[in-house]
Parts: sequence; C-alpha cells; structure tokens
Amino acid sequence: MAELKLSESRDLTRIERIGAHSHIRGLGLDSALEPRQVSEGMVGQAAARKAAGVILQMIKEGKIAGRAVLLAGQPGTGKTAIAMGMAKSLGLETPFAMLAGSELFSLEMSKTEALMQAFRKAIGVRIKEETEVIEGEVVEIQIDRPAVSGAASKTGKLTLKTTEMETVYDLGAKMIEALGKEKVQSGDVVAIDKASGKITKLGRSFSRSRDYDAMGPQTKFVQCPDGELQKRKEVVHCVTLHEIDVINSRTQGFLALFTGDTGEIRAEVREQIDTKVAEWREEGKAEMIPGVLFIDEVHMLDIECFSFLNRALENEMAPILVVATNRGITTIRGTNYKSPHGIPIDLLDRLLIITTQPYTEDEIRKILDIRCQEEDVEMSEEAKCLLTKIGVETSLRYAIHLITAAALACLKRKGKTVEMEDINRVYHLFLDVKRSTQYLIEFQNQYIN
Ligand code: ATP
Repeated sequence: MAELKLSESRDLTRIERIGAHSHIRGLGLDSALEPRQVSEGMVGQAAARKAAGVILQMIKEGKIAGRAVLLAGQPGTGKTAIAMGMAKSLGLETPFAMLAGSELFSLEMSKTEALMQAFRKAIGVRIKEETEVIEGEVVEIQIDRPAVSGAASKTGKLTLKTTEMETVYDLGAKMIEALGKEKVQSGDVVAIDKASGKITKLGRSFSRSRDYDAMGPQTKFVQCPDGELQKRKEVVHCVTLHEIDVINSRTQGFLALFTGDTGEIRAEVREQIDTKVAEWREEGKAEMIPGVLFIDEVHMLDIECFSFLNRALENEMAPILVVATNRGITTIRGTNYKSPHGIPIDLLDRLLIITTQPYTEDEIRKILDIRCQEEDVEMSEEAKCLLTKIGVETSLRYAIHLITAAALACLKRKGKTVEMEDINRVYHLFLDVKRSTQYLIEFQNQYIN
C-alpha cells in the first residue's frame, strides 16, 4: 500500500434505507431529554426513548466508551425504531451501521470478519487537509481559442499581482470555465485554490479605484492582499475506517463500496491503516468519531461472535454497540447453556438494558396515522378505526403492512380514499400470524413435517 487513498471517497453519499422506519427522524425529546408525546415520527415508549436520549448524551460527552446497550422487548414494540432514532439524532457525521444477527450466517465471509467490518463501518475518521490558496489582483487574462471552437480545448494564462510580485498561471479548461462563471476581468481580486485549481472572485481591487464611478455602488471592493502570498485553508472529510479499508485493499478501489463486493480484508491492510490513522491523530490531522453499531436479533449470534464482541468492546476506539432482541430465557447458540435473551452472562453484565412496552390502542392509532402520511395514503376515519382494532388484535407491524396493500386495493377500484371495504379485502387476503398458525393446526397433516 503506497499512500492511503482518501480523496476518492470524498463525494460518497451515504445510502439510506427507506422503508419500515422512514418516518423516524429522531427520538422526539426536548432539550431536557423529556420525550414529547408525538415528535420526529416517534409515539409513546416514553421511558425507553428517554433512556436512549440519556445514553446519547453520554456518547456525545465521550463518557460511555466500551459499553453497550440492550433493547429488550416484545416483537414490534419499536426497538429498531429507537435505534434508528438514536442514529438520526447523532447527526450526519456520526456513522451508524446496522446488521441483523442472522445476516452473519449468510454472508460469503467468516462471521468474525463480517462483525469486524460492521465495527469499522461504525467508526468514523474526520481528516483535516490543508490546501494552499493564493489571492491577488488579476492583471491580465489571455485565453487561446483554438481554430475549431470548443470550451474543453481552450487554454490560456492568467497574470496575478500581489503587492510584491506578478505570477503567471497556466489556465486549464476548467479554470477558464470558472473565470467565465465568476465574470472575472482584470482589476478583480481572486483566490486560486492550488489543489483543485478553483478560482473564486472576491471583489475589485482598491488600486483600480478610478473604475469606481463607472461600476456603481453595489460593487464590492476588497483590499489587495499585501505580503501574504499564500494562505492555508483547512478542508475536512469524514470517512469510516471500513471505507478506508476497502479503498486500500481492492483493485477496483472505492467502487467496491457501491457493489457491496468487499470480500475479506487482510489483517495486514487493517494494521497498516490503523498505524497510519494513529500517526495522523498524533500530527493533529485526524480525529476519531466513534459511531453506533446496531445488531438486531442478537440472540442469533453464537458463542464465537459473543466473545468477539466482548473483545472488540475493549478497544479504545470501539463504537457504541446497541443490540436488540425479543427473546426471553433461551439457549446461547453454540452451547447447551441457557441465559437471559440468549446472551452470555459476562456480556450481559456490560449492557445497559432498556425495555420496550406493548403499545396502547391510542398509540397504535397515532403510529398508523404517521405511516399513512408517510406513505401518502388517504384513509377514512372508519377505515383507520378498523385498522387500529386489527393492530390491537394482531400486531402493529401487520397493521402497518395492510396500509400499503389496502391502498393498492383502493387504487384498483379507482377510489381516492381507503375505506373499510379495502381494509376488509386485504385482511382476508393476507393472514396475520395468529390466523396462519390456526390454519396450520387445522391442516397440518397436509404439510411436510
Ligand atoms: P422485532 O422484535 O420484531 O424486531 P421491533 O421491536 O424492532 O420488532 P420495530 O420494527 O421497531 O419493532 O417496529 C415495528 C414498526 O412500527 C416499524 O415500522 C416502526 O418504525 C414502527 N414503530 C414502532 N414503534 C414506534 C414508535 N414508538 N413510534 C413510531 N413508530 C414506531
């Protein structure tokens, strides 16, 4: 690995999952960390939201390294929603990685490698780079237009004067384009970013004050910078350790981040990267931003994964680990022992446990209202009441699924508002877990056991 390649990942935009939790925009807490009734897409679950908010506060104050949080509660009580809310409230720079326990067993890499990648996706690095910016007054611009015109093939020269000297710059097509956009002419004061070649017009120079009357009062006048030829400007990029790993370990570089084909990353590559990042930290060029790693269905992990987690949490740079489960006392995978939530006691001991409670009818109704808005579905009052009853009898998630299906049924009959008949129709078309189980009990001899 020659030089660590970073610039390639500059413009990477994070891809956000839309779907079941797209309505969650935060934890909906006020400045005293008290939960608002309905806020940022969140409804009810007040104690759990407040506890999650307190943990976030500790994360922000750097007081909770090496700890982990367990969200425990029945299915559909908002554990994933709360983890999402935590990530959203941490802001864009803080990395959030998410993984379901069962995914570890289906990837084309070892379980511990997949966990390691998830950990490094949740650790951010803020890298500061300095570029040189030169400011001065434009003396002359010369653009050589080729016989066959075409902006891309233009070249030219720009003479820039500071108080001490005149420097001539060769202009590339991009710089010429920038000059045109900024309407730069001689007498203007400009800044040239040496790294990117970007030209920005700062205003007119005082030395050309004879032009003042002609230009009118709106024109901004700036003093031509004296003496200070080169200015240093700080540029900041945020990447995750995993992004640096991938960029430096694959021949296709950063494109591997989009294809998802990251494969296993060699331990030596990670060691080199860790050493380099440690150097940057020492030189004050980089800062670490520990983020959040959320592992859903944590009871699906086996004893090997749990010992990996225990070790990984010891690391000084560990992200905040948030795990969730809907299981009670159950077997720890890979052993014959039972334990609460299927998590070994030594790991359980390190966890801050937050429990989620089943929703009331009123809360279910409010969540369904929010989902209707989110999915742009218009629904009559009676249909919403019926759907809420279904949510209470079956599950919140089932009721949420019926919104989309009922909207399609409504569209099919060329209706604009979802009515009770649409809900009825899809309720009989798609079974909830209770009815499906009942069906299986009745007809079990027709299925393969
Ligand atoms: P499981 O144990 O089955 O994984 P879970 O506890 O993670 O379930 P979620 O998936 O978070 O449950 O919740 C089910 C659906 O209800 C999701 O669409 C979620 O966004 C929504 N939801 C849950 N709780 C709330 C809440 N308090 N406010 C708003 N929406 C919620």
